[in-house]
Amino acid sequence: MNFELNPHSPITHLSFIPHPLSLIPHPFPMSLTILYRGSLVSCNYGCEYCPFAKRQQTTAELGVDRQSLEKFANWIADHPQHEFSILFTPWGEALIHSWYQQTLAWLSHLPNVRKVAIQTNLSCSLDWIEQANPDRLTLWTTFHPEWSKLDQFLEKCNDLQQYGIHFSAGVVGFSRFREAITTLRQRLPKTIYLWINAVKAELPQLTADDRAFFQSIDPLYELNTHHYPSLGKACRAGASVISVDGDGTMRRCHFIKDAIGNLYDPAFETALMERSCTNKTCHCHIGYVHLDYLELNKVFGAGILERVPIAYQ
Ligand code: SF4
Ligand code: SF4
Repeated sequence: MNFELNPHSPITHLSFIPHPLSLIPHPFPMSLTILYRGSLVSCNYGCEYCPFAKRQQTTAELGVDRQSLEKFANWIADHPQHEFSILFTPWGEALIHSWYQQTLAWLSHLPNVRKVAIQTNLSCSLDWIEQANPDRLTLWTTFHPEWSKLDQFLEKCNDLQQYGIHFSAGVVGFSRFREAITTLRQRLPKTIYLWINAVKAELPQLTADDRAFFQSIDPLYELNTHHYPSLGKACRAGASVISVDGDGTMRRCHFIKDAIGNLYDPAFETALMERSCTNKTCHCHIGYVHLDYLELNKVFGAGILERVPIAYQ
């Protein structure tokens, strides 16, 4: 299907035009996970641990990202023979822009989208969320203690729950955030998984007590502290999981820069194949969860994209 995505119109005003090619079933229907990262690199927060803090983009630059997003969403709709799980991993904060909100809501209703998720600081208005399909939209939210007010963050979490949207919440694992993390854990419902992102470069500075604290908050914290050996190991990245940028360039993952093809190539499927990893190690959740030998699908199951372990689903 083609659709005209007008970010200024309510979702209900989107018009659908069947594309003739979309009616021809592909001989090899597949289930593909896409990590999408367009050219958005701006953010409304200023976290000192982030290179994208308070960076602004011009209207023209945002327009380019918006057009790329529109093209990507159209492409997903145009391939009903395949089933997609999509995680948006923007460098900056995307969900403050109405066109991301509308596109996510829209994608969540497509029959060939199993799941659509996004990493967000949850600072956006949630007045669009009721237009999303709560069975398909999920959020990976991060609380940034130096930029978010706890009450406001919790209020948003509460709103998500009211709308039946599943999500994880997390904090970057600096010891100076311990007090904020303690309060967040106390006030967040027990059913919500709170992850702690291990800051690998800071690990030598952490005390044993810091690590025990983080582990007490997030039972999977230590899992996130490793650089996993990956060279020559089987990984689903490049076969059933790919990274895609705004131009459609396909890479195995965000951590191996070599392109393997382009999503907008009519024969894009031919680029997908089993490959062993060419990096020495893999240390980021969005990468190592796809390493076969770690078997983390047994830990996260259907919540692997939004980082929600089975125990919390
Ligand atoms: S909210 Fe995220 S993208 Fe924005 S400055 Fe903080 S870490 Fe960076
Ligand atoms: S192990 Fe990590 S770096 Fe290697 S292919 Fe998989 S996701 Fe990419």
